[in-house]
Amino acid sequence: MRTADGNNGLDLMLFRKRDERLYRPSVEYPIVPHCNLRCRGCDHLSPCMEPEEIPLERVSADVSALTGVLRTDDFKILGGEPLLHRDLLPILRSVRESRIAPSLTLFTNGLLLHRADPALFETVTRIGISLYPGVKLRITPKELRAISRRYKIRIEYLYRSHFLTAYPPSEIRDGALVRRIYRGCKLTGPWSCHTLWKGYFYKCSRAPFLTLGMKLSGLADVPPAGENGVALIGNANLREEMESYLCSPEPLEACRWCLGSMGRINRQEQGGICGPPFHEDEEMSPETMLRSRGNLVKSLAEMIWMRIRGRGIG
Ligand code: SF4
Ligand code: SF4
Repeated sequence: MRTADGNNGLDLMLFRKRDERLYRPSVEYPIVPHCNLRCRGCDHLSPCMEPEEIPLERVSADVSALTGVLRTDDFKILGGEPLLHRDLLPILRSVRESRIAPSLTLFTNGLLLHRADPALFETVTRIGISLYPGVKLRITPKELRAISRRYKIRIEYLYRSHFLTAYPPSEIRDGALVRRIYRGCKLTGPWSCHTLWKGYFYKCSRAPFLTLGMKLSGLADVPPAGENGVALIGNANLREEMESYLCSPEPLEACRWCLGSMGRINRQEQGGICGPPFHEDEEMSPETMLRSRGNLVKSLAEMIWMRIRGRGIG
């Protein structure tokens, strides 16, 4: 097994010797950038995004290109809110048929699940429902339990009472800090948030959205998203390029506008806006937006309290 030098210091486990393809635990495809919620901490920047549905053909071509060079255990379809995509079912079927992964997971905020096509439940192996404070689902826990039993799929709830601050209020100009954030970034390592989007493979879920989000927020000089990823289509050296990209100890250009997994933890709420900066406190520097021990302890206590109060589904 080969390990990656640098990055977050953990083994990337690129190879499990079954065939010559690369291996990562999970890969995701955000099939719509927009959403029907406006979470303040959304790291896909969905409150900034124009409605868009990634075409079925685009998703199929990207998944097909990746299947030849990478194996994964779990392929995740998400957004934005994926149930807003009118071709969600054909997309799910196409990914299933590609055999890129034994597990196909749909991640949703659950708001539209009550009117989902039942064929959807026959196609996925797992549904992850993110629950946010103050957001009530129309589908009930009893109905979800019945769906889980009938279609033999796992349904998991993710209580999102808090979020990691994803982006700094301005570009991080301290190269050593960018490198430290990148090396500690769990999205590329243990969280395996590798992302396919519009013909590119990205090592994390934020790089594809940073460019557009920053542009919409009036911040200039962010390089095109593709420069942070690897082109999937017509790339004769795709496997080699992806190996080198995944193992690289060098931060992406996008990392200069990102706090990785080291950002402060804040309480989740609706009302996310798009505007510079992504936080209301304009005086903060990137350094002060990194998580401290005090912030961690306070946030954990809040999370426990919110769980006890039983916010979420119901
Ligand atoms: S549910 Fe919230 S966090 Fe998830 S994509 Fe929508 S706005 Fe973003
Ligand atoms: S852009 Fe952010 S999430 Fe992506 S690798 Fe860099 S620090 Fe990690």
